[in-house]
Amino acid sequence: MANSSIELKGDAADCTSAKVALSGLTLAEMITFVNSLGLPTFRARQIHKWIYDKYASSFEEMTDLSVSVRSLLEEKAQVGLLKLSHLQVSRDGTRKYLFELPDGQRVESVLMSFSDRKTLSACVSSQVGCAVGCTFCATGYLGFKRNLTSQEIVDQIMCIQRESGKRVGNIVYMGQGEPLLNTEAVIESVHTVINSVKIGARHITLSTSGIIPGIKRLEEENLPLTLALSLHSPDPKTREEIVPITKKYPLSELIPALRDYADATGRRVTIEYVLLSGVTDSPAQAKALSDLVRDIHCNVNLIPFNPTFDNEGHEIYHRPPREAQDAFKRIVERSGRTVTIRLERGTDIDAACGQLHNKFSAADD
Ligand code: SF4
Repeated sequence: MANSSIELKGDAADCTSAKVALSGLTLAEMITFVNSLGLPTFRARQIHKWIYDKYASSFEEMTDLSVSVRSLLEEKAQVGLLKLSHLQVSRDGTRKYLFELPDGQRVESVLMSFSDRKTLSACVSSQVGCAVGCTFCATGYLGFKRNLTSQEIVDQIMCIQRESGKRVGNIVYMGQGEPLLNTEAVIESVHTVINSVKIGARHITLSTSGIIPGIKRLEEENLPLTLALSLHSPDPKTREEIVPITKKYPLSELIPALRDYADATGRRVTIEYVLLSGVTDSPAQAKALSDLVRDIHCNVNLIPFNPTFDNEGHEIYHRPPREAQDAFKRIVERSGRTVTIRLERGTDIDAACGQLHNKFSAADD
């Protein structure tokens, strides 16, 4: 049902000075737009189908629109919002995209395929840069620039589908930025992903560094997506050092908030844990992690560190050897939780979040 009071936001709202981008909009927003051109509502449904079901990249392809409608759309609108600025393809098939936003800022997205899964996964960004400043993350070194709009988040997925010609089956909000510091736009984008891109909430994972008000807001929304907490250390002092936002949202409050979320939604959460040699990979930390997760409805995902570099090009941390990763896993498994070591993707390209962006920012300087 069309909502005639809905307002177009950001670039989509400006239909006087610039063309309105349609990909990433909801059906209701498309209806508002086509009605503003004097076109009937069913035209919006046709365009919505072409963009979301058939990955059309031009109005010319929309052959069930009359020539006059297509030329009106050419004049007033464009399909995509983001421009592909760079693409890297890994030997394992991982595709890493750098997209340019309408204001010239750039964000990264990644398309991953796994041999044991039929569906492709896309990792999307929610902010340009990030204010959280995790010490092992290339995006942290960028600092925070701005939030993305819901449309800018959704169009990353559509750009990937248009470029690759492949359907994405899983979405992870794990690219640049902290999704729960841009909570309303992220929630809006999740609804568009479900209703327009047609990827079910159970195939969506949202990863947070531990923003307690955002976790509570997500709990109210009660979406059956998977919440992943980037825990990275069970020890408050170590976590404060590598995830500085811990000072604002300490583990003593974060863990109960996470437990409440899992209890209220009935959804199993994921605990993400980056293995940094000599920092987070000791047997004592494994034991503390095992004790911590024992009474949380969760799975644990260990992430062997994917090397990132500071602004001077120095490798900041090191990845523990495989035997140390396995030993850590065995200790955490004593909790009775399922523990996995994340499969590495795209290690021959700039796979860690923020690396591709930083490389091109440096090149621009
Ligand atoms: S790991 Fe995530 S939350 Fe931390 S700085 Fe990087 S983008 Fe931000």
